[in-house]
Amino acid sequence: MEKAKVTRKDLEIKKGTIEVDFIIVDGKTVNLTPVNYQSIEKYITHEECIDCGTEFAKRFSYDRKCSVCQSLDEIVKYNELPLVEWDGESALALYNDDLYFFDYESIEQYCEEHETEISSLLLVVCERSYFGHIDYEHFADNVHEDWEPSTEMKAKLEEFNKFLDSQSTETWFPSKKRVDLTEFAKEVYNG
Ligand SMILES: [Zn+2]
Repeated sequence: MEKAKVTRKDLEIKKGTIEVDFIIVDGKTVNLTPVNYQSIEKYITHEECIDCGTEFAKRFSYDRKCSVCQSLDEIVKYNELPLVEWDGESALALYNDDLYFFDYESIEQYCEEHETEISSLLLVVCERSYFGHIDYEHFADNVHEDWEPSTEMKAKLEEFNKFLDSQSTETWFPSKKRVDLTEFAKEVYNG
């Protein structure tokens, strides 16, 4: 069943009294009864956007802006990020989204499916993660405080850390750097 539409105007805030247990300590009244309260936002399904005044259906109880104004805010924030050139290889992600692209074709595909232009995508470049090196702290719980690693252990650990450097985590994290593929798309289009 669809929830009935409720706006702020539908909910008249009334005054009431509740009974609580209290004690008097040093002349001060101390309330002993936990008082439950809820936010009115939870019961409002439709709100007027604080930016443009349009009435919109809320997705979250704390939404105060319509989706158009929310995306405008997002674009403003996105455009404040530094612009970098895409190397054509690093993974890309949609700004503030969990959607990753690992090649240019999948971006084109996304645009086709969502009937949008590459130039209007809010893309950020991703950065690869690396394996952290293992140091002697790793063994801190197992050894006494004056413990020193053997020469052999030092050599093995160094070797292992070098090995870690050569291994890929195959894991990318979105960075705070944006890329604009408009020119890139033109070049692809022109062959
Ligand atoms: Zn709005």
